[in-house]
Amino acid sequence: MCVNPKNIAILGSTGSIGQSSIAVLKNLRDRFRITYLTTNVNIELLEYQIRQVHPYGVVVLNPSQAEKLKKRIEGVEVLVGTEGLLEVVRRDNVDIVLNALVGFAGLRPTIEAITHRKHIALANKETLVVAGAIVTTLAREYNVPIVPIDSEHSAILQCLTGEERSTVKKIILTASGGPFLNTPAEQFPSITVEEALKHPNWKMGNKITIDSATLMNKGLEVIEAHWLFNLEPQHIEVVIHPQSIIHSMVEFIDGSIKAQLGYPDMKIPIQYALTYPDRLPLEVCTVNFPQLQCLTFLAPDLVKFRCLQLAYDALTLGGTAPAVLNAANEVAVHAFLERKITFDRIPQLIEQSLAAQRNHRVPEFEQTLEADRTTREFVRNLLA
Ligand code: MG
Repeated sequence: MCVNPKNIAILGSTGSIGQSSIAVLKNLRDRFRITYLTTNVNIELLEYQIRQVHPYGVVVLNPSQAEKLKKRIEGVEVLVGTEGLLEVVRRDNVDIVLNALVGFAGLRPTIEAITHRKHIALANKETLVVAGAIVTTLAREYNVPIVPIDSEHSAILQCLTGEERSTVKKIILTASGGPFLNTPAEQFPSITVEEALKHPNWKMGNKITIDSATLMNKGLEVIEAHWLFNLEPQHIEVVIHPQSIIHSMVEFIDGSIKAQLGYPDMKIPIQYALTYPDRLPLEVCTVNFPQLQCLTFLAPDLVKFRCLQLAYDALTLGGTAPAVLNAANEVAVHAFLERKITFDRIPQLIEQSLAAQRNHRVPEFEQTLEADRTTREFVRNLLA
């Protein structure tokens, strides 16, 4: 039993990871107290969470939704907008920031939290994709751990625990392959939003589900792994593993390979990120090997799934290229979800952006923001 529970702010509490985090924390009440919750617009669910969790305060990004919520609840401070998010992560009654925001929006709160010496449990992979060098340098400077929630990176962290980093030969990120693993490339232009939102193994938010269908999610995870584990692109391999039972592997210099396995449930990596390096009991489904019978693997098709190749290219280019990749992807995915472009246009728009945008080799934070802004503008002009 811990005497002083740690205070947690959950950024993006109404999303898929946010909801699972609240479920995990329900059983860790002696160790953690949730002090803040945040949402973009979903005040109905947020109100329900407030009644369950009793936080000190909440942040609603959308100002009109924030006003509505203020009229509906009492005894809980309601902060508004990005300024509210930044305010919350600075406060003394926050020790850990669990960042489950979607996309580029997660970057500034992460930086603000690090510079105020808050520990980071990171589900927002875009933070590291867009500004990996800046964020990891700051984390070292402020001596703040960044513990991944992403299941693949949690798997790598678990495989690395107790190992000397210099003995790592490479890491192998597994990918389910998404819903179009066996769909011929010729059919990609006619893929519907509904088809793309049907992920075979994981239940997630819309943006990441589309990223999983294009394999961009794996591409973003390659870049995330580069920054988290300090590995060059040639030491980060991707293998398709449709059952999503092995969550990733590490190969060592003696030829040994360690893998982390489990039933695909985000509660496992969420709890591990919060209790790391401790391992605590958790009620989840377990793997039934005789029923499963086989685990299969194949190499990713980098021609059909161009996004994964583009992510490797952006990582190799370095500088602001990953920020350009991410911004183009966010605008393209949004346009696809709004049925403004076909599925096969997503990688095309990203490729055009990477070719057109100037690359700053060692970007300052302002140049990263600028790369994001100009790329979004560039893609929107292409779409207009
Ligand atoms: Mg993942």
